Amino acid sequence: MKTVQTFTTAAGRTIYSFPVQSFPNLVNNIYVISDGQSRILVDCGSGLEQANADLLAGFTAVAADFEPITLADITHILITHGHIDHFGGLPFVRQYTDAPIGIHVLDRRILSNHEERAIFASRRVAQFLEGAGVSAHHHQQLMQVYLFAKRYYQSVPVQFLLAEDEPTVGGIQVFHVPGHCSGQVCLLVDDVLLTADHILARITPHQAPESITQYTGLGHYLDSLHKIAQVPGIRLGLGGHQEVITDVYSRAQAIRQSHEERLGKILHICRAPKSIADISRELFGPVQSYHVLLALEESGAHVEYLYQRGELVAANLDEIEQTSHPVVQYIKA
Ligand SMILES: [Zn+2]
Ligand SMILES: [Zn+2]
Repeated sequence: MKTVQTFTTAAGRTIYSFPVQSFPNLVNNIYVISDGQSRILVDCGSGLEQANADLLAGFTAVAADFEPITLADITHILITHGHIDHFGGLPFVRQYTDAPIGIHVLDRRILSNHEERAIFASRRVAQFLEGAGVSAHHHQQLMQVYLFAKRYYQSVPVQFLLAEDEPTVGGIQVFHVPGHCSGQVCLLVDDVLLTADHILARITPHQAPESITQYTGLGHYLDSLHKIAQVPGIRLGLGGHQEVITDVYSRAQAIRQSHEERLGKILHICRAPKSIADISRELFGPVQSYHVLLALEESGAHVEYLYQRGELVAANLDEIEQTSHPVVQYIKA
């Protein structure tokens, strides 16, 4: 797990990339941007033992083959968004460096007030699962899965904010692209776009409903895809996972299309009343453990998008009005 790739930007900066195993089924790409003066670390893995070991091994490999950089030489740390596989390693990284940490303001509390935020977020996930029609037994299992990754991280203060209207360290241009995460950013390093989890080479980045976290949701996400499509001169995309994106514009277009197809499928499924759990089963078939939660959230994001736009309506209004924890049945308007 230490194959280093290097990229040279139009202005001659070097971007080193290496993988870390964040979870048994999830590999993250770590980036180090070097221009001889600043050495910027972008994301740091999940913070689990294997990820931390891979992070150190990545630096060792960069030093062996390219440039003598250690974690202690890092001048800035940029976190692309508040998902644990991207920031969970911060307490570990802090053992080696005091470099300031920057993130978009909408995700700051996830890093700096993690324990509080996890409690509020899990309340809203529980409420979502209830309204989605997930059985009580299944519900409990899913909440345990959801909370697992939220328990081991300890809050770390944030020193500066990434904002779209001001270039950040090294003149890197920030684009706020909410959707996959509230504070998701893409970082334009000369002509190379670090797309983080906004645009990925092979999968459509995960979506969850805005009812769980404000500024997520499919509507924001599609707007953010459009925003990146308008940025001229992106030669190459480097994602938070998976391979290099050789054509960011056509990849963004393909992702949009796959969401449109999914929206169409849901309208088709909802010719008869369906709960989000029903819709999720029809879209994704039988899935296990964490993937059940991901499938429910993904379905929920699409249903919410259609409901917000009046293309789906609630079919069981009386029940919703009269019971305290109703499961919403959606039907095509
Ligand atoms: Zn993410
Ligand atoms: Zn990720």
